Amino acid sequence: MDTANQETPAISFELFPPKTEKGMEKLKAVVSRLNTLKPEYFSVTYGAGGSTQERTFATVDWLRGQGIDTAPHLSCIGTDKDEILEILKRYQTQGIRRIVALRGDLPSGSGLGGLGELNFANELVALVRQSFGNDFHIEVAAYPEFHPQAENAHQDLDNFKRKVESGAHGAITQYFYNADAYWRFLDDCKQRGIEIPIIPGIMPITNYSSLARFSDACGAEIPRWIRKRLESYGDDLDSIQQFGAEVVTTLCRQLLDGGAPGLHFYTMNQSASVMQICAALGLPDGATAS
Ligand code: FAD
Repeated sequence: MDTANQETPAISFELFPPKTEKGMEKLKAVVSRLNTLKPEYFSVTYGAGGSTQERTFATVDWLRGQGIDTAPHLSCIGTDKDEILEILKRYQTQGIRRIVALRGDLPSGSGLGGLGELNFANELVALVRQSFGNDFHIEVAAYPEFHPQAENAHQDLDNFKRKVESGAHGAITQYFYNADAYWRFLDDCKQRGIEIPIIPGIMPITNYSSLARFSDACGAEIPRWIRKRLESYGDDLDSIQQFGAEVVTTLCRQLLDGGAPGLHFYTMNQSASVMQICAALGLPDGATAS
């Protein structure tokens, strides 16, 4: 698909709630820099089982206090329906109009589901739609390289469709470095009649060891040619970041040129690499640099 006539792609930034006062102060500076890129919204993660609840609230409160469009994540595993509805009412009174609805990661050692009233994200989506109609725009998670606990690729796609049929308005993908996985996922969704926008999640590369650990856990593949190069830089962070920025900028350009409806950056509460990538892409002005 040609992007020549498309509007500026929507970008959004994901934050996690800081653990300390110092982290919060740092986050405020990061947000003020990222906000110059005119994102559609900032999202704030939420620990499964409510483990970050107070910190997520504090971060959301601060963002809303700045008048910034905010999309809190909400996970359902191990949380009662009543508690979820209370949280949503709180967000509604804060003028929040978008949430990211998730199951959440299971505590290690537990099987699939069985940890509360809501076992899967589609049940959370259905609850939000039943209780709040269209008051919240609901984003859900999508996995172009498939969820690590999925029985197989087809079932994972069927389960994704269940979230859409339950009322999700859009989806954000797990990060990936292989654009073909995303295009194929879009094709599979189209064949299943799924029409919601599916925004690629983008993970900047700034540190090899933590990225490798995280990728193994969440089922995102780092292609061998990227792994090998990153490994060869050893502790040379500057080279890792420079190479990482080139790789991720190229990926983003391919995605936008191919018609992706926007980009959602996993910022890891850092601004430098995201700003570098967006500058190389010519965002937010839409004039993508070649
Ligand atoms: P689901 O869509 O419920 O899927 C989970 C697994 O169950 C999949 O394997 C699926 O195929 C299978 N499944 C789904 N429905 C059924 C069914 N009815 N029957 C049988 N199997 C089924 N985690 C957090 O804790 N906090 C966050 O803030 C957070 N933010 C995220 C944001 C994004 C954009 C993404 C991509 C992930 C995020 N995660 C977060 C991680 C997410 O919680 C985990 O990947 C989790 O393991 C699955 O969540 P889900 O909402 O995709 O689950």
